Amino acid sequence: MSQNDSYEEHRRSGIFFVITGPSGVGKTTIMDHTLGSDGRLAYSVSHTTRDKRPDEVEGEDYYFVDREVFERFRKEDKFLEWAEIYGDYYGTSRKEIDRIKSEGRDPFLDIDVQGAEQLRADPSVDAVFVFLAPPSLEELERRIVDRGAESPETMERRMEVAQKELSRIPEFDYLIVNKKLKRAVGDLRAVIRAERLKV
Ligand code: 5GP
Repeated sequence: MSQNDSYEEHRRSGIFFVITGPSGVGKTTIMDHTLGSDGRLAYSVSHTTRDKRPDEVEGEDYYFVDREVFERFRKEDKFLEWAEIYGDYYGTSRKEIDRIKSEGRDPFLDIDVQGAEQLRADPSVDAVFVFLAPPSLEELERRIVDRGAESPETMERRMEVAQKELSRIPEFDYLIVNKKLKRAVGDLRAVIRAERLKV
């Protein structure tokens, strides 16, 4: 900032807010609450090869594509990061991020540990990494069971994956524990606010 600039203009912009956490931790709910109250944030819609769930909307939740298309995009270096999760591909396209940045907004990404790792290694990305954890593994298991639709085998696999993801917490900038929704949303807003004020 030069001395002639107004300090009122100070705002660190274009920060990537990256949220990672095990499946079932409540990421979507917390993100919806945060995005709904912050017009400067824009959800980065990922590409995926997994099947669309009945309540999902193309272009809002994901861009649903087949493996052939995903693989072609990958070869053409169209993804800023990508990962294979439970046999399906997921990725953040450069185009999606460019769209968000051209609106002068901050990209908000819901991606897994592998994707977060790729962004951390990318010098062109100014990102803040937030890990969202359950109060305990037992509580996570209870929440996934309550959500239903999980066979004993996939349940076991999800818990194994969750355990591995939780072991990566030290690599993140912030840890938010989702015990009470209101508290977790407040914590996330505090992180975003503080990061924007950073010099
Ligand atoms: P779901 O299939 O339940 O929507 O998502 C499964 C996992 O994929 C979640 O952990 C979510 O964070 C992750 N995910 C969603 N989009 C992306 C992406 O673009 N890149 C990466 N690396 N992970 C993603």
